Amino acid sequence: MAGDPRLPSSSPDDGLEARLASVRTGIADAARAAGRSADDLTLIVVTKYHPASLVRALASLGVTDVGENRHQEAQSKAADLDDLGLTWHFVGQLQSKKARQVRRYAHVVQSLDRTSVVDAFAPTEAEPQPPVIDGFVQVNLTDDPGRGGVQPDDVEAMATRVLETGTIRLRGVMAVAPLDEEPRAAFARLRTISERVVALAPGATDISAGMSGDYADAVLEGATHLRIGTAITGNRPAAP
Ligand SMILES: *Cc1c(COP(=O)(O)O)cnc(C)c1O
Repeated sequence: MAGDPRLPSSSPDDGLEARLASVRTGIADAARAAGRSADDLTLIVVTKYHPASLVRALASLGVTDVGENRHQEAQSKAADLDDLGLTWHFVGQLQSKKARQVRRYAHVVQSLDRTSVVDAFAPTEAEPQPPVIDGFVQVNLTDDPGRGGVQPDDVEAMATRVLETGTIRLRGVMAVAPLDEEPRAAFARLRTISERVVALAPGATDISAGMSGDYADAVLEGATHLRIGTAITGNRPAAP
């Protein structure tokens, strides 16, 4: 995809456009290998720790979906970039008490991993008809219960809880591949977990999986949403 000719030539591109193009090609290749259409895949560029200016540059290159993992940073960037009409995905661990604030700027919360967080989106006396947000149940694919996400056996209960809030549109499941396992095997498990969720919520067919190093495997196992950071943005600045 060509860059926006209106970008000032002094814009801090330093390879951003080339990296984005290369990932887009990689996604198209993976889709072809999987016998799928790249049109069915949503690329979310994870921009955490990067300045709003980088998100703006990405938008000028045609990026429509961005991911953030910290509430305050996401809130401030979304406010700065309100004019761009981006879809904001919250992908980090969420504190229950922040849920209602996240709902004001984020369109999708991908990290529903505890009943307390899900319940925080439910209507309250102060806000009886809150806006509806899209949500993914995050699944823990590792053996370590301390990692983010619900255990595979608990996914149906969590999905049911999400449906009961009436304020979260359940889109499907999200996961991060474990470090000590072939990502494709982990994503294959996620696919069977997704099938169980679809059995109880027929509309919740989305699968958010695949990051910079493993998105091709995720596409082969049915991912619909890819969350890609460093392969596009370059290295992240240190956490502020
Ligand atoms: C940071 C992050 C990503 C992107 O990771 P990269 O390896 O930089 O592509 C994806 N998903 C989540 C939940 C993240 O926190």
